[in-house]
Amino acid sequence: MPDVFADLVGQDEAVDTLRRAAASAAAVLRTAHLPAPAVASADPEYDELDALADDDPAPATAGPAGDPGAGMTHAWIFTGPPGSGRSVAARAFAAALQCGHGTGCGTCPGCHTTLTGTHADVRLVAPEGLSIGVGEMRALVLRAASTPSGGRWQVVIIEDADRLTEAAGNALLKAIEEPPPRTVFLLCAPSTHPDDVSVTIRSRCRVVPLRQPSAAAVAEVLVRRDGITPDVAQWVAAAAQGHVGRARRLAADPQARGRRDAVLAVPRRLTGVGTALDAASALIGAAEAEAEAAVAETDAAERAALQTALGAGGTGRGAAGATRGSAGQLKDLEKRQKSRATRAQRDALDRALVDLAGFYRDALTSALRAPVAPVHTDTAALAEAGGQKWAPEGALRRLEAVLACRAAIEANVKPRIAVEAMMLSLWRG
Ligand SMILES: [Zn+2]
Repeated sequence: MPDVFADLVGQDEAVDTLRRAAASAAAVLRTAHLPAPAVASADPEYDELDALADDDPAPATAGPAGDPGAGMTHAWIFTGPPGSGRSVAARAFAAALQCGHGTGCGTCPGCHTTLTGTHADVRLVAPEGLSIGVGEMRALVLRAASTPSGGRWQVVIIEDADRLTEAAGNALLKAIEEPPPRTVFLLCAPSTHPDDVSVTIRSRCRVVPLRQPSAAAVAEVLVRRDGITPDVAQWVAAAAQGHVGRARRLAADPQARGRRDAVLAVPRRLTGVGTALDAASALIGAAEAEAEAAVAETDAAERAALQTALGAGGTGRGAAGATRGSAGQLKDLEKRQKSRATRAQRDALDRALVDLAGFYRDALTSALRAPVAPVHTDTAALAEAGGQKWAPEGALRRLEAVLACRAAIEANVKPRIAVEAMMLSLWRG
C-alpha cells in the first residue's frame, strides 16, 4: 500500500525531509505522553516541546544527533512552480503528522481523514478570489490555537500564501512568532521572493523547495495511479510541462484537449494585424468561457443557499425587514463571486499562455538543433518549420513576447491589452 507521500512526483529530497520531520514530530508526542519522571532530561527547563515553542528563528536544527534535516518545526513553506505539488506535499505532511503510526502510512484513520479533508485538526485555506483577507486569517489563527482534539497536532495549511493581504500576513506572522505548542503552519507559495512571502514570515519558516518534475516522472504516476495508458501518459506529461494536475486533465478531459488545440493553432493563423487582433479576442473569449463554466455551478448554489437563508419569497410580516437586511449580504456574495471569476479567468488564460510558450520554445530548440524532446509532440513539425523560417533569434523574440504577456497580466495589466500586444509581436516577429 503506497503511503501518503506516494503522489509527490519526482521530489525525493523533499519527501526525505518530510519523513524525518514526521518521525521527529511523533517522537515529540511520545515524549509528551510519558509520565513525568520518565522525561529524559536533566534540565527541567528543557524538553523537545519547549524547543518547538522556542523563539529561536532557526528551529530546523533541532534534530536528534544534531542532524539539521531531522528536526520538526512549527512553520513550513513549500515552494515550487505551479503543478509541482506544493499543496499535495503540504497535505501529505499534514497526514503524516496526524498518522497513528507517525509515518504517514496512508491507511489509518488519521491519514485517511486528513487526505479526504475531514480531519478535525487540519484546516485548509485556499483563496477563492485574488487574495486571502484579514478576517479569514484571524478566524483561522484563533481556531488553530485550540488544543488538538485528536491529541496530536493542529495543522493549518495555507495554499497560495502569496495571496495573503498585508493585514492577513501580519495576523499570520503574529501566530507564527508565538506559536501555540501543538500548532503547525504549512504555507504554499511559488517562491520565497519577498513579493510572494514577507521576509519576516520567511525568516520564521523552514523552506521545502519542490522542483518541476520531469515528464518521465509525471507519466509514471499517471500510469500507476490513474491507469492512463503509457503512450497517452507520455504525450500529456510532456505537453503539461511538469504540471501533474494539468497532465491528468489533458488525459481525461476532451474539452481541455480541444482548448489546447485551439491555442496551438494560433501561430499559423497570424497573417496580419486583423488576424492577430482576432486571435487575441478568441483567446480572451475562450478563457472567459472556461472560467464561467468552472464557477457557474458554485455561484448558483451559493446564491440559492443565501436566498433560502434569508427567507426569499416569504410573505410574512418579517419578510420585508429580512429583504432590507439581505441586500448587504447579497452584495458581499456578488463581490466574492466576481473575485473568484476573475481569478478563474486569469488561471485559464495563463494555462493557454503556457501552452503557447511551449510551442515557441519548441521552435527555438529546433532552430538551435538542441537535443531535447519537444513540449508539444503533436505540433512539433509546425514548430520546426517556424524555427527554420524565424531562425533562433526570431523564435526567441516570440517566446519572450509570450512570457512578457504572462508577466504583464501578473502585474495587473488588463488581459486584453497584454494579449493584443503579444499577438501583434508574434505576428511581426
Ligand atoms: Zn497513518
